[in-house]
Parts: sequence; structure tokens; C-alpha cells
Amino acid sequence: MILDNGAEVIIGLEVHVELATRTKLFCACPSAFGAPPNTAVCPVCLGLPGALPQLNREVVRLAARAGLALGCTVRTRSRFDRKNYFYPDLPKGYQITQYEHPICEWGALDVPLADERVRHVQIRRIHIEEEAGKLMHEGDSLWQARGSLVDLNRAGLPLIEIVTEPDLRSPDEARLFLRELVSTLSYLDVSDLRMEEGSIRCDANLSLKPPGFTGVLEELARVEVKNVNSIRNVVAALESEVRRQRAVLDAGGRVVRETRGFDEVTGSTLPQRSKEAANDYRYFPEPDLPWLSVDPAVIEEERERLPQLPGARRRQLRERGLAPKDAAVIAAEPAAARYFAGLTDQGADTRLAVTWMLGDLARLLNETRRGYDESPVGPAALAELLALIAGGTLSGRMAKEVLDKMFETGQSAAIVVAEAGLTQISDQDILAEAVGRVLAAHAAAVADYRAGKAQALGFLVGQVMKATRGQASPDVVNRLLRERLAADAAV
Ligand code: ADP
Ligand code: MG
Ligand code: ZN
Repeated sequence: MILDNGAEVIIGLEVHVELATRTKLFCACPSAFGAPPNTAVCPVCLGLPGALPQLNREVVRLAARAGLALGCTVRTRSRFDRKNYFYPDLPKGYQITQYEHPICEWGALDVPLADERVRHVQIRRIHIEEEAGKLMHEGDSLWQARGSLVDLNRAGLPLIEIVTEPDLRSPDEARLFLRELVSTLSYLDVSDLRMEEGSIRCDANLSLKPPGFTGVLEELARVEVKNVNSIRNVVAALESEVRRQRAVLDAGGRVVRETRGFDEVTGSTLPQRSKEAANDYRYFPEPDLPWLSVDPAVIEEERERLPQLPGARRRQLRERGLAPKDAAVIAAEPAAARYFAGLTDQGADTRLAVTWMLGDLARLLNETRRGYDESPVGPAALAELLALIAGGTLSGRMAKEVLDKMFETGQSAAIVVAEAGLTQISDQDILAEAVGRVLAAHAAAVADYRAGKAQALGFLVGQVMKATRGQASPDVVNRLLRERLAADAAV
């Protein structure tokens, strides 16, 4: 995105993903969301003196898996460091993280943009760290807080932080990157990925590169918007930063490097503090933990177990003839991909499968706020309905009614069709008679058709459909009408 003053938008993201383990990162406290405040705590995560951390093995596996899926190198030796700072949600006065030696380095995610373009976004590093507690602020918003409460259930939960290079070029690219990242992670079973519960949060960095700038991007004055909790808010925060930094530059000012927060109420960012430097944190190696050694066999095992990821799935679906947009929707989440695979495994016609899965079934699921894996009409049941359409037993219109009923009652297509007496009439003799009656009753439309008004044919088809209560096969009716009109005209 190049602004009309020639400046280019530069964005890099730091994405925090809470890992779905049963217990916390360095203690055995349960990681259940929603427990009463300060009940899932122990001396380790409360930071009581003398308590020692013990690493949760599962976290290492999940971090390695995420790294491999993003094309990173997983290091067999990495280390934990202390990041020292004071905040009421951090009882120890430091966070255990990985600073100098992260577990994963140098990967990339290819993000599909509009018009078949792709943005290659490099992943600089992925490190493991612990979550802080949660502050609840009384008052209208964080900015007008009258008082705060601390819940330490979240303190010590495992996170990975995925840090990109400054490779994104617009707020919309940031949105597409986050969507692709969430989609990729959703295949890995590493996180609940529930934004509304805070299991993904993002620090969004943005700078404006002046025209002709040839230096290193890291040297530009960037602003880091901290802790944004939804994709929509990341976009809003970045858009408001583009406007704000632009205005500062237009007024002849300089953008200062600082940390800002996003205020959902006003949709704009507010200064929090001038940018801290690494040495403000007095990082040092965590003395209570040894170097982390990861068995190469574990890394290989995880690599072999990696499922097919969204990019590869999209390619495969497109090779089977799907439109890019349809392939993208089906590959975006495991439940949709599984549903589609279920349909085709049952022998469903590919084109019908796409049309019905992404059309009427998606509509019914949306209306009832369900996912594909919660559909009352499973892939086998839908495939049965599609076979009735393909075989000419049901018209599209009738099939729609049948699907509604199947969705409502959980009954099979065969039962719904039998109970409603809904089968399509393709019998030529029965339809020829109905066609004859309609032609006799609508002489004016027949005359219009002969006079060259093609739309009169549509009217006549509609009348035959009406006369057969929608059960006639539209294809057969169309053909019979044309034949009769042509034959009569020749007389
Ligand atoms: P910090 O400690 O300042 O947060 P990190 O190394 O953790 O530094 O993260 C830096 C982030 O800032 C990365 O996501 C990187 O892509 C991004 N970044 C670096 N330079 C720029 C820039 N000029 N504009 C926007 N983002 C940038
Ligand atoms: Mg940062
Ligand atoms: Zn604990």
C-alpha cells in the first residue's frame, strides 16, 4: 500500500498463541478457562519465593509442531531467559521467555492475496513463554479505570509468540496473514484459537517508509500497538495508525518510536509508553532452568505427522476443478475440509457437492450457528440427497425443501421424499398432457412467443410447473414446449 504522498506502509506482527495443554507451562495447575478467579494457582505460578519451575514436555512438542508447519528450523538446543519488569499481573516480577535462543527460527507463510497474488511472509522466530495473569478494570474502559482486580489463573499458561519480518504491506494484508495463520494452526491441534477468550493476541508494528528510503526497515521509527485481541481490531488499529502517522508527517513532524494501545470504543490508538529497549528488561538466562534439549527424533516424528496444510489443500482442490474461492473456503478449516472429503468419498458429484455444501447447507448452518462438524445432515446423508438430484428424481427446488426438512428432523433424504410424496415427474406422457393444457389455456402467450418474444417461453414453463405443483422436471418441460411450439408453427 503506497499512500498518495509516496510513503509505503510497512507492517510486522508478533502473534501470541495460547497453547492447548492440560496444565500450565512450569507447574501442574490446570489450564481450564473460566474457573473461579485465583483457584487454578500454586506456589510456582504465584511466584512464591523458593518455588521452582518444571517444564511441561507437551509444550515443547506443540511449539515444534507449529514451527514445522510454518517451515521453521526447530532447534535441538534452546534456552529460557528472564524478562524483568513490574506489573500487577506478574507476581514474580519477571516473565520466563526465550530471548536469545528461541526454539524455532526462520520459516515463512505464503499468504494468498486478491488476484492470485501471494505475499511471502517470513517468520523470524517462534519462542515459548509464559502468560501473565489477567487484570479486570472497573469503569467504562481501561482508560477511565476506577480500580482493578487481578486473576492469576492465567498466570503461567503456555504461549508461543510468532514473530514475522516486516513483510506485510497493508492492514488488509495483515488481516489475510492472520486468517491464513489461524487456518494453518487450526489443523495442528495446538491451540483452541478462541479469540474472544484471548487465546490469540497480536502486537502490530507499523511504520511509513518515505519514498526513496534505502536503509534497513528496522531503522524506521515504528509504532507497536500492543495486545490487540481480534483480527478486526488489528485491522482497525493499523488503519488508524496509517492515518495518524500520515497526519504527523504531513504536518512536518516526526513519528516517534513508541508503544500504543488500541481503544475499541474510539477505534483509535493511544500512547502507552515510549518504546522500551531490550536492556530495559535486564534479560538474563533463567537460572532455575537448564538448556532445553529437544530430541531430534521428536522433531522428526512431528514432521512426519504434519497434516496437509491449507495452501496444499487449496491447490489440490483446484486441480480437481474447484473455483479458487470455493477451494479457499473448503480448505480454510478442518471441519469444512473433512465434510467435503466425506461427500466425495461417498461418490458425490464434485460440482453438486460444492454447490450444496457451500450454498444451502452453509446457509442452514449459519442460521443455527453451527459448524460443519455439528451439522444434523452429515456428509453421507447429503451425498444421498445429491444422488437423487443427479439421477433426476428431485429438481433443485424440491431438493432444497428436502434438505430443509432433513436438517430440521435429521431424517434421511429417502424418508423425507417418501413422506412428502416429492418425486420429480419426468414421464413424457404425463408432462405432454400438462403442456397441451397450458398451451390451450394461454393463447396470448403462445402468440407472443410466435411474435418473437422469447420470455413468453419462461411464462409457459412456469405455468406447467404450477400445474404440476413444482414436480415437473424443468428440462423435460422446456424441451416439450419448444417441440410443440415449433411443430404447431410449421402447420
Ligand atoms: P520488539 O522487542 O521491539 O517488540 P521484536 O524483535 O520482538 O522487537 O519485534 C519486532 C517486530 O517489529 C517484528 O514483528 C518486525 O517485523 C517488526 N518491524 C521491524 N521493523 C519494522 C518496521 N519498519 N515497520 C513495521 N514493523 C517492523
Ligand atoms: Mg515486541
Ligand atoms: Zn501453578
